[in-house]
Amino acid sequence: MTVKKLWQEDVYTKEWDAVITEVSTVDNGNLKIYLDQTAFFPEGGGQSCDLGFMNDMKVIDVQEDGKEVVHTVSPEGAKLPKAGDKVHCTLDWDHRFDNMQRHCGEHILSGICYDLFGGVNRGFHMGHDAMTIDISLEEDPKITELTYDMVMEAELAANRVIWSNAPVTVMRFETRKGTENLPLRKALAFDEDISIVCVGSPENAADCVACCGTHPATAGQVGLIKIFRVEKNKGMFRIFFEAGERALEAVRTRHDILYKLSMRYSSTIEDFPVKLKAAEDKQNATKAKLVHVTNALIAKESAELDAKAEESAENVIVHKLEVLSMDDAFNMAKPYMGKTKKLLMLYSIVDTSFILVSSGKPACGKLVKEYASFYNGKGGGNDVSARAIFTNEEDAMLFADLISKHLK
Ligand SMILES: [Zn+2]
Repeated sequence: MTVKKLWQEDVYTKEWDAVITEVSTVDNGNLKIYLDQTAFFPEGGGQSCDLGFMNDMKVIDVQEDGKEVVHTVSPEGAKLPKAGDKVHCTLDWDHRFDNMQRHCGEHILSGICYDLFGGVNRGFHMGHDAMTIDISLEEDPKITELTYDMVMEAELAANRVIWSNAPVTVMRFETRKGTENLPLRKALAFDEDISIVCVGSPENAADCVACCGTHPATAGQVGLIKIFRVEKNKGMFRIFFEAGERALEAVRTRHDILYKLSMRYSSTIEDFPVKLKAAEDKQNATKAKLVHVTNALIAKESAELDAKAEESAENVIVHKLEVLSMDDAFNMAKPYMGKTKKLLMLYSIVDTSFILVSSGKPACGKLVKEYASFYNGKGGGNDVSARAIFTNEEDAMLFADLISKHLK
């Protein structure tokens, strides 16, 4: 006996009674159950399977098995059923309706892409965050790319189909006979047991294609289609989009981000780009000023360092920099590299790090390699300059003392 597929008779069947025709236990204690009739739609065509309950047992997977449908069920302490038992089945309707909205949304958008651009849907994925369709521009030689503006045009046209509340009809054919005159967007892949889905009347269909999935009775139930972006992918164009309640959720999430961002700039969403540009201009001006001030500070510190080196009898000069960073210290050290007669140790307080500079004797890199690790420091460099990085100022100063004593 072949299972009766209740979704083919009434896609809105949410509860039904069935008789178990076969049951077996699988390794992990779950059961494989076959029924005389089911509305649990099996996984297929990029769509996840239906979920729900059989009596108190959770239905966790549904797959096609030839002409039958096999349900994987978690018994979780329930009385184990046997063939011939009657069970009451309930569908997780939210999950199914989500699938129906998304799947039908894909139909409508694919139909529109075909209509507007001669684009054929060659790949479909129902992801967690978005759905994608891969559109191959193969029907109209004049159209060679899909731009953002073009997919926005498709989005509007797809939503207009939804707002027209066009009927979604499923026609079943034993053979190809009778399908010849339908405006199919894709050639048939089967010769028998063919289901054709039409959004709108076949004479003026928004989409018409072979499909055995689950669809709402009217396009209006899809609610909304929102396209996020389009990108080139393996010679085709991948459209990222969402349909149904998920489309609303996606628009809300994005609106929420924009709303909160604009609030941070004391702006409305509409004025946000102007406010953001003004903030960027201000930031750029501040950056330019900072470069100017930093250069002046480097010149001042360099003059002090020159004076110290001139006056000091020591071989090692330690010079602390209060505001300047390690990178600033490096720029400041450049003119001394290979030229100074002493070992200069420029210390950046903010980065707890040294830049060492010398004529090459002593070799800066070697000093860091040999002594920095005594005080949990690390770094390295070449003969005329090196960096030594410490976790705190105390360790850094102990390192400087050690070098000073060593080179006395
Ligand atoms: Zn379909």
